[in-house]
Amino acid sequence: MSEVAVPFRARPHHRWARTAALALAVVAAWAGGAVPGRADAAVPPERTQRVEYFPGPGAEPRQVTVPADAPAAGTAGRAPGPAPSGPAVRRFQRTGPVSGRLDLVVMGDGYTADEQGEFAADAEEKLDAIFRIEPYRSYRGLFNIWLVGAVSPESGVSGDPTADVVRRSALGSSFFCDGIERLLCVDTGAVTRYAALAPDADIVFVVAHSAKYGGAGYSAPDLPPGSPFHGVATMSSGNDRSYLIGAHELGHSIGGLADEYQYPGYGAYPWAEEPAAANLTLHRDPAEAKWARWAGVQDPTGSVVGTYEGGGYYETGIHRPTDTSLMRTLASTEFNVVGREAMIAGFYADADALTSPVPTAEPVRAARPLTVRLAPLTGLADLRLTWSVDGRPVPWAAGLRSVTPRALGVRGHGHRVTAAVTDRTAALRDPAVRARAADSLTWTVR
Ligand SMILES: [Zn+2]
Repeated sequence: MSEVAVPFRARPHHRWARTAALALAVVAAWAGGAVPGRADAAVPPERTQRVEYFPGPGAEPRQVTVPADAPAAGTAGRAPGPAPSGPAVRRFQRTGPVSGRLDLVVMGDGYTADEQGEFAADAEEKLDAIFRIEPYRSYRGLFNIWLVGAVSPESGVSGDPTADVVRRSALGSSFFCDGIERLLCVDTGAVTRYAALAPDADIVFVVAHSAKYGGAGYSAPDLPPGSPFHGVATMSSGNDRSYLIGAHELGHSIGGLADEYQYPGYGAYPWAEEPAAANLTLHRDPAEAKWARWAGVQDPTGSVVGTYEGGGYYETGIHRPTDTSLMRTLASTEFNVVGREAMIAGFYADADALTSPVPTAEPVRAARPLTVRLAPLTGLADLRLTWSVDGRPVPWAAGLRSVTPRALGVRGHGHRVTAAVTDRTAALRDPAVRARAADSLTWTVR
């Protein structure tokens, strides 16, 4: 663990006017309505943002539209100020270079300067719980995790326990967001500024200092334009089920997974095109589903993989792979195998299992040891490292973490040495995904 003090730059309050302008731009970007195709959808009011909320432990999530520039319902009209003292950025887990890893930033809200130790303990508890779920567990080695100790002037967050409670906090967290008790909104502009203090931020978790159950998920299309990360999930610190909010939200932001739940009264899925998400299909016949390779498999969620009607908020004409899953209800603590496959594909889209301290941009001498590092993956993952020269495999070198071009038989100049890693995990069945779960580095010998 290393602690890096980052100087905090005070932000003048006119920054908030800019945040409001960004929020307006968000509205312009999705003027089609809160949920496309919803029969009774009205044109959303200006300055709104779509978030997902979680009515209770074990309940099905819901999508709602809330005001974007007033995240703290109880603090409308009063802009939260910058933190009074410099936040510390702590490396919680570093498994590789930021360029080759998914960088997860966890920040606390409603923790005073004296409560930063409590924040670190709460963050660790949430992370440990999330990373007990597959495929997070096996692929934890593709993550770097950073803790940003946002210091709040008051302990706790707004709306806890009742809507009229107002507290000043670094990130403006508030229950009763838009009048919904369990909806824990946050000032996404403040989150963006704090996230910038970490070396990199692909995903952000906000842990709000509260025992009240709640959370929210902001997916990439709902974040201010130019946001450097894929998604933000908020969750309360003191509730032992709130970690599932983070686990579910990463399903959207990393796996591109759709919600598998439906709303009473939504009726039939209104589009003729197959949905893009890996876990929804128009087809009723499992053999025609995009997850046909998994059809009939006994799934970790408890059902046999097939086609189950309802999903993506609609009741009919659309199908999900299993009866239940973490993408349908937080009563389930597992992704189904289709979700797992999409998550692993998402991990590899943003992270590399193979890295090397030897740059590939410059030619190397034949006597130079080419050292590679494999991400520390476990469980489901099955990494295989191979070497080749000018495209011809060198079988005896398979698995070597360091070897010189000369030892591989390179004589003369201009030859190319390649280290390649593939993941033979049984959790991937789609050949296209398997092909993407591979990475290579090539050096030219001078
Ligand atoms: Zn969701």
